[in-house]
Amino acid sequence: MTLELFDTHAHLNLDAFEDSLDEVVSRGREAGLVGILVIGIDAATSRRACDIAAAYPGFLYAAVGIQPNSAAEASEADLGLVRELAGYPGVRAIGETGLDCYWDDTPMELQQRFFDDHLQLCRETGLPMVIHMRESGDLIVEQLRRQSSIPPGVMHSFTGDRPLALQCLDLGLYISFAGMLTFKKSDELREVASIVPEHRLLVETDSPYLSPEPLRGRRPNEPARVEHTLRCLADVRGVSPEYLAGVTTENARRLLQLP
Ligand SMILES: [Zn+2]
Repeated sequence: MTLELFDTHAHLNLDAFEDSLDEVVSRGREAGLVGILVIGIDAATSRRACDIAAAYPGFLYAAVGIQPNSAAEASEADLGLVRELAGYPGVRAIGETGLDCYWDDTPMELQQRFFDDHLQLCRETGLPMVIHMRESGDLIVEQLRRQSSIPPGVMHSFTGDRPLALQCLDLGLYISFAGMLTFKKSDELREVASIVPEHRLLVETDSPYLSPEPLRGRRPNEPARVEHTLRCLADVRGVSPEYLAGVTTENARRLLQLP
């Protein structure tokens, strides 16, 4: 039986998919996907996300934003373009935004300014945020708590511990799991995944990165492979994959305000 799946984070707008987009989309449909959120990381990839969402309406959707590691190279004009793109048809989220303490491409102060800017854009447009976190969970929670109001959103490719998950849930956020969940050493992450209330759960591939087991290391990852993460998540929670696919897809539709 085919599962009804939604990949909430894929970079189909990157060069890795330039020549294979049609096939990747077809394989996704065959694997039971009903939607894919294509994520921008800078001005150019945000524009590309809008273009390919327009080419596959009702199946590909776009998130536009400047990823924290791209912020240092972004100009005011790039931020302006993201604002403009936010109004395009097919755009269902702002991001990815957030903070990254692993790479030092962008000074933290600048990352925080961009994150604030994206949050403001979420409030203006009513679109949800897609949050990138890498060794930066506590700073993200602090910055969100300083906001006048916190837009709905998702912590993408969640890798934090249980206390951080509880704080994110407390802020009203969804929690999305990627291929890392399936890795042999991810026992702690699987335990976190078992306690997230089901109406806040999402799955994603983060394509072309992070192929799930049993395809780990085989790149590029692609949306059709989200099934492995979903099955792992269902196993951890002791529910059927069919049931959890339905729940997570419904969650994605709710977060992205899809019919
Ligand atoms: Zn990403």
